[in-house]
Amino acid sequence: MATETLHSRGTGQWIDSSDGQHWWFDAGSVALDFAYTGGDLTTPEGETVHDARELNEWFAERFPEVAPTAGDREFTDARTLREAIGRLARQASRGESLSPDLVDVVNLFAATPDIPPVLAGGARQAGRSSARPHQALGTIARDAVRLFGPAAGGRIRECSAEDCEYVYLDTSRSGNRRWCSMQRCGNRAKVRAHRARAAAN
Ligand SMILES: [Zn+2]
Repeated sequence: MATETLHSRGTGQWIDSSDGQHWWFDAGSVALDFAYTGGDLTTPEGETVHDARELNEWFAERFPEVAPTAGDREFTDARTLREAIGRLARQASRGESLSPDLVDVVNLFAATPDIPPVLAGGARQAGRSSARPHQALGTIARDAVRLFGPAAGGRIRECSAEDCEYVYLDTSRSGNRRWCSMQRCGNRAKVRAHRARAAAN
């Protein structure tokens, strides 16, 4: 499928949004999930990864082969990358052209070593915790290259709810995902539609 990203890694995370809700948001790609650790893409509202320790924890859930050795330098780089991905996602969801300086940031990280894929079943024990945090950034940046490339055209969208701006990659087969989350916005829209119908009767 054209929109294939790093699904084997699993996507989605808990979000604490500015409206006080705690909810599960699957942004559809590792790169987008990563961007949301910095907040809601344009402001730090709802930031979940504030420092190197939290970055190590976030990596540990998705990249078990990465050693938890991120320090301030890695966190600073991570913040640079996630801000670029977040702003690009906003632009892509609105059909705007992507800022060359942001594209350069993604390309810079994508050109660094990523986490190498490992085939199970070898005689030698594959190294555990053998990758560095910067390799996780390389992997995330490569996911961003696929995310913002031509293959995902039109599938980076904003939630259809009027008062919600969460951006996701629609990975559904039918391509008709409308909500950041069914539980959060999908059901609210259904309830509103139901009330409107009831009021009309
Ligand atoms: Zn929404």
